[in-house]
Amino acid sequence: MDTLAKFKLLGPPTCFEPAEEVGARQPPARQDDDLAGAIHNAVMPGGKRITLLKTMLTSACERDCAYCPFRQGRDFRRATFSPDELARLFVQLHRKGNAEGLFLSSGLAGGGPRIQDRLIATAQILRQRYEFQGYIHLKIMPGAEREQVLAAMRLADRVSVNLEAPNAERLARLAPHKAFAEELLKRLCWIEEIRREMPGRWPSSTTQFVVGAVDESDVELLTTTEYLHRQAGIARAYFSSFSPVTDTPLENQPPSSPLREHRLYQSSFLLRDYDFTVEELPFDPGGNLPLESDPKLAWARRHLAYAPVEVNTAARRDLLRVPGIGPKSVERILRERRRGRLRVLTDLRKLRIVTKRAAPFILLDGRRPAHQLSLWPV
Ligand code: SF4
Repeated sequence: MDTLAKFKLLGPPTCFEPAEEVGARQPPARQDDDLAGAIHNAVMPGGKRITLLKTMLTSACERDCAYCPFRQGRDFRRATFSPDELARLFVQLHRKGNAEGLFLSSGLAGGGPRIQDRLIATAQILRQRYEFQGYIHLKIMPGAEREQVLAAMRLADRVSVNLEAPNAERLARLAPHKAFAEELLKRLCWIEEIRREMPGRWPSSTTQFVVGAVDESDVELLTTTEYLHRQAGIARAYFSSFSPVTDTPLENQPPSSPLREHRLYQSSFLLRDYDFTVEELPFDPGGNLPLESDPKLAWARRHLAYAPVEVNTAARRDLLRVPGIGPKSVERILRERRRGRLRVLTDLRKLRIVTKRAAPFILLDGRRPAHQLSLWPV
């Protein structure tokens, strides 16, 4: 099989694996040629947009994860790149201006350490032989050794370990032969240990969960996400709505709602950037977030509707709780407060605050600003 034929088999399947600051199911940058499905628009942590080639090293796999199209024994055409072959292909695309960065994942054939070596070798060829200085995101394989994690971190701008499920019990149903703590979580913790133990410029780390395949609740997903932010220093968690694949044990299970995925992202940002704790999120008795309402708005309706926040004196943390006010607008408010009092909504609009959302929950100079009541949940 030639390289292009392999690429057509190995590139497009990664389009459902979220990467970088754009969520799952992002539209590919190109739709019309051999690269369709494998080149994606991605936003880097600093906000820069790049074209990212997403591909697998191999679609051969010895594991039997219940949701996965690549699971062992499933009948489809598989392909494998050698590190040399993939590095050469990427460099050709890069030189033609088709891809600025690389996201490299893989099936597990011959064990995690063997595949990790091949992922590392690919990145090494790119960095050393081709002197590629651009963005590389490398997957850390289940069971990879600590030295391999370190080697991957020395080559990559981002590394990630897919936890898939929020805990061992859920993972046993989703991926019966993966060990949650020993094979997966430990590697995310090693990444953070290395960053703490060895000062220097290290890659960021992320994880991914499959949402809605094994009855896990939002509180389970977000409890693990909060733990990972605090203990493993992850930059973010990705939530990928379950979508059934034919000829897998979960083929008859309904797909998960993209709106649930969206609420999970909103909530994880509240945990990461807004100083919320999991206990404060507005879960229903079953441990799930209301789909019909933004979680920050739902929290504010319960807590701020009768105790509005005085914008002129509130602490940073309290301002962050107000819908329509984010970390950047809090900084603008704090700066502006040093110059004078904020008295009317126009003062806030000048600071790029979404006053329609904020108005019901604030005081400006001791007064509730006039606002129109919203008829619809947001
Ligand atoms: S190890 Fe990865 S590629 Fe293999 S079946 Fe599981 S999720 Fe799919």
